[in-house]
Amino acid sequence: MMRVAVVGGGISGIASAFYLMQRNIAVDLYESEDRIGGRIGSEQLHGRWLDFGGKNIGKNYVLFRDFVKKCRDLDYEYFGFNTSQLIGGKVVRISKEGAKLFNTLRFIGLCGFDGILKLYPHVRAIIKDHRQGVLNSDYFNNIAEHHDDVSLAGYLKEPCLSQIIRPVTVRMNGAEPDECYPGNFGSNLALVIDSYEQLKHGMHGMLDAFQAMTKAPSLNILTGHKVTSLSRDQVTGSISIGYTHGDVQETAIYDRVISALPAIQLSVIVDNILPDASALLRQIKYYPIAVAIVKYRRNVFMKTHRAMVFDQSFSLSNAGAYGINDLDLVRYTFSGRTSRTEISENSDPEDVISLGEKIAAQYFNIKDNTREAFAYRYISEGLCAYSPKHYRLLGNIDKKLEPLTGFIATGDYRRGASIEACFRAAGECVDKLFGDLN
Ligand SMILES: Cc1cc2nc3c(=O)[nH]c(=O)nc-3n(C[C@H](O)[C@H](O)[C@H](O)COP(=O)(O)OP(=O)(O)OC[C@H]3O[C@@H](n4cnc5c(N)ncnc54)[C@H](O)[C@@H]3O)c2cc1C
Repeated sequence: MMRVAVVGGGISGIASAFYLMQRNIAVDLYESEDRIGGRIGSEQLHGRWLDFGGKNIGKNYVLFRDFVKKCRDLDYEYFGFNTSQLIGGKVVRISKEGAKLFNTLRFIGLCGFDGILKLYPHVRAIIKDHRQGVLNSDYFNNIAEHHDDVSLAGYLKEPCLSQIIRPVTVRMNGAEPDECYPGNFGSNLALVIDSYEQLKHGMHGMLDAFQAMTKAPSLNILTGHKVTSLSRDQVTGSISIGYTHGDVQETAIYDRVISALPAIQLSVIVDNILPDASALLRQIKYYPIAVAIVKYRRNVFMKTHRAMVFDQSFSLSNAGAYGINDLDLVRYTFSGRTSRTEISENSDPEDVISLGEKIAAQYFNIKDNTREAFAYRYISEGLCAYSPKHYRLLGNIDKKLEPLTGFIATGDYRRGASIEACFRAAGECVDKLFGDLN
């Protein structure tokens, strides 16, 4: 029987394992932490599981929704698109709720003439064919070829840049517009034009349902197993995985291996055998993000006013209600350039939360409210901002990985950093690696 391993138990690894199982292929899933989930992982607050990473599920997330249905048919709840930002000293609401014409006109106003002129053809291309709204699609590769010599900050003008583009890039890439490129913006744009729900009982329920699949003999989840190296086994020609489990260093041999690690982490484990591939993988940029979820005694938000994005002068990029019925639960997100200078992995979570509260208190009911509990997470390689002419870099990486026959790499840097894009990339990897079997 063929032995197959997936390295990395985040959503990319889970998706890879799922698609392998759909083909009746048994899989060992290696995860260095003591539980799976990676950047969609949850933490408990007052006995309730809350999501720190990816949790908003677009109406267009067909692959992820199909996966959830096949694991266990879990319920979704409305999340919507309801935020606001400070423009010329005034709080301006941006929402997909309420009058459609009014919201469209407001969006056009925020974009400005140049913004509409540049973005409209891209939006139209995605609406016409949803498969274009990812990294490395034909349409956006063409944009990359012609426009990635400048960043988004050079490609677009004000007011579009500050009012539309920056709130999106700091949220989805952890990066400023001058750190992102037009050819990669399609994967963001597809998310902006989608509308959102979240799993009613959070991502934890989904992870539980997936782990229940280990009862099927084809899935073996190896938590606490950190992969440290990959090499070609000289005797069998198969792939040898070196890993540590506790204090023990061991190896295991596989016929095929899928990496579902972020590029930066894959670069570490292939550095010894494929240094050129490793160097290319390091060109893919990741930026840090800190997320705090704080429970207050009384409501912080109103149902009609549930979030706010902040400009580049603040380390707080966004403060929003955790869910439409969780107006007393604030998710503070710190990303972008200012946050990188003010917050690090050594920051005291309480200090970071106080910083967020000081900024958000001007707009929401925080000052005289009591903080009852909080949970906090800092992810140093939190969000992927890719690279200029990213599709070319991906092609070069694949070429440099070729000598390791039977090995393929998926992850958030292949099709984009959304949960759906991770599913799409994983499905394509499995098809590529195993298409010959069917
Ligand atoms: C704060 C935040 C909010 C987000 N919000 C949304 C959202 O609302 N909607 C959406 O669609 N997307 C969202 N995203 C994006 C989405 O969550 C991520 O793109 C996605 O979770 C990435 O999954 P991954 O499996 O590729 O990587 P990861 O989740 O990073 O998984 C990699 C896994 O590999 C493990 N690992 C690392 N090194 C090794 C090793 N050597 N050996 C074995 N295992 C190893 C790690 O522990 C980890 O579990 C958000 C991301 C963040 C950070």
